[in-house]
Amino acid sequence: MKKLFGVIGDPIAHSMSPAMHNDLFDLYGIDAVYLPFHVSKGNLEKAVKGLKALGVSGFNVTIPHKTDIISLLDKVDPLARAIGAVNTVKNENGLLVGYNTDGPGFVKGLEYMAADLGSRSALIIGAGGASRGIYFSMAQAGIERIDLYNRTPEKAEELVNSCPFKVESNVIGREAAEKSLAEYQLIIQTTSIGMVPDTESLPLSPENITRNTIVSDIIYNPLQTKFLKEAARMGAAVQNGVGMFVFQGALAFEIWTGIFPDVNRMEMNVLRNLGG
Ligand code: NAP
Repeated sequence: MKKLFGVIGDPIAHSMSPAMHNDLFDLYGIDAVYLPFHVSKGNLEKAVKGLKALGVSGFNVTIPHKTDIISLLDKVDPLARAIGAVNTVKNENGLLVGYNTDGPGFVKGLEYMAADLGSRSALIIGAGGASRGIYFSMAQAGIERIDLYNRTPEKAEELVNSCPFKVESNVIGREAAEKSLAEYQLIIQTTSIGMVPDTESLPLSPENITRNTIVSDIIYNPLQTKFLKEAARMGAAVQNGVGMFVFQGALAFEIWTGIFPDVNRMEMNVLRNLGG
């Protein structure tokens, strides 16, 4: 029987996941379909029970359900529990098991760029949900230092204090972050600043970025934020948010099927979707 996969969220109409995963099912000859399901906040519990009753094989979870779904699952992977967010669910012999592939996907995308995290130091700008997954996954991967700058410093403090993995860390203010940009090998922009339609905004002044730095902005709409353009102008190596999106999908696909898929093909699929 055809296997059922999907993604639940609100809004969901523009999700790029169905095209990406259906193409992979075709490529690997898997008899399955991946569908978008519009599920509003008040309907999450009913939707999860319905998917389970239908015998869904797996599904992705996106805004606004990544945190609320945790209490509705049978089991949650320890990293996802620590992050406090699930974006991938697998039906394991009738039990719904939750995982987080957003943060690990970001790390894998970075490693793909030949960035061995090891003894590096990073600055993360932002302390929202995406930042939390990235911070925890980089700490788990063994990076030496991660500093954090966020508009609301209390949120950054809370994030640092709740991380179960050991990593050297300071919460810094905007001025200190702008002054010390040259000290980091990695700068990761995780706020929504610079996203369509607000494409002329910057999270902080990029003036002190140097060519020795890898700068990543997890936004993919536009494909190059103003921050990324400025970093490229300074000679830094840059990466946009397509990498994180593709690798979170690749890790979800691997959890469901045991196959680590062709990420170059996935990237082309996403770029086609984005008109890039
Ligand atoms: P979130 O939880 O709402 O966090 C938003 C972050 O942006 C917070 O740090 C917030 O600071 C900051 N921020 C928002 N508006 C700001 C402003 N005007 N000035 C200063 N700081 C501001 O959102 P999220 O889920 O982490 O998503 C953040 C971005 O990542 C979005 O653009 C999203 O599209 C992108 N994303 C990409 C991927 C991918 O696969 N590439 C995956 C997930 C998310 P405060 O704490 O001070 O409010």
